[in-house]
Amino acid sequence: MVLARARAVDGPDKPFRFAEIKRRELDEQDVLIEIKFAGICHSDIHTAHGEWGHVHYPLVPGHEIAGLVTAVGPGVTKYKIGDRVGVGCMVDSCGECENCLRGEEQYCLKGNVPTYAGVDKYGEPTQGGYSTHIVVTEDFVVRIPDNIGLDAAAPLLCTGITTYSPLNRWQAGPGKKVAVIGLGGLGHMGVKIAHAMGAEVTVLSQTLSKKEDGLKFGAQHYYATKDPETFKELAGTFDLIINTVSAVINLDAYLGLLKLDGTLVNVGAPGEPLSVNVMSLIGHRRSFAGSMIGGIRETQEMLDFCAEHGIVPNIEVISADQIDEAYERVLASDVRYRFVIDTSTI
Ligand SMILES: [Zn+2]
Ligand SMILES: [Zn+2]
Repeated sequence: MVLARARAVDGPDKPFRFAEIKRRELDEQDVLIEIKFAGICHSDIHTAHGEWGHVHYPLVPGHEIAGLVTAVGPGVTKYKIGDRVGVGCMVDSCGECENCLRGEEQYCLKGNVPTYAGVDKYGEPTQGGYSTHIVVTEDFVVRIPDNIGLDAAAPLLCTGITTYSPLNRWQAGPGKKVAVIGLGGLGHMGVKIAHAMGAEVTVLSQTLSKKEDGLKFGAQHYYATKDPETFKELAGTFDLIINTVSAVINLDAYLGLLKLDGTLVNVGAPGEPLSVNVMSLIGHRRSFAGSMIGGIRETQEMLDFCAEHGIVPNIEVISADQIDEAYERVLASDVRYRFVIDTSTI
């Protein structure tokens, strides 16, 4: 067993505090990872604040994990001590259902085991990456390519795969017009990846305040959605729209921007239901879809793609004492574009 240093919260309104947590003894297929960096995802904030249902406190969030292998179980074949590795939003699944067998473990029919706020196969609550060490079965560990720094790699494990997966599935590429709604942590990766795939990329943001950034990330066009003219001008334009925003949007207005057979994919998860006028779909055989992270095989593919194309997220590295402040800044949209905790400061 390893005692890891961590930062935990004790309740919805409580600040982060230092904690020591136990990481299990290495099982046959387990890998012990010394965490170097952990990204702060908006999901961490929702969960820490108890907004997504009952949570077992104390809670250590964090599912954007990058570090080094420091020990391996006797049956481990994929990793050795010193390897640069990552862990994303899940740490296990049944491995036997139809979806797991397809490599889509995130959609495991028995439910995947989330990296934190879940329960593992030993019946223990899972604790995430705001800590110095974690033990994960090797099948849920991915390899971080040498040319991506561990600090920049961390956010790819959630924001990278969340945007890569739908762009890949709906075939963003040369000749395709792709729009990304929202230029936050997810949106900025969506723009970079869609651009690298060869698509013509448009950002749809509330205002033009981040236009310069959006164009730097690879967007060719940038429109303010506060301006009603935008929806007239862009009617019937896009093959694919990725919605990274978690707020309620006027779905019909955005569906109207799709061309024949176009698809609007939600990766943001609003707390309230969205309503849709079915006419917005049947008029041009449009689809409204959702997508949640990606499987382990696809996560590795995403990391290799980012390495090959030199794509990394824009990050601001913080110390463990700054987590509460970082949460406030994320909620105020005052981050460009991802906070990453240097876990050596825990
Ligand atoms: Zn996340
Ligand atoms: Zn399964």
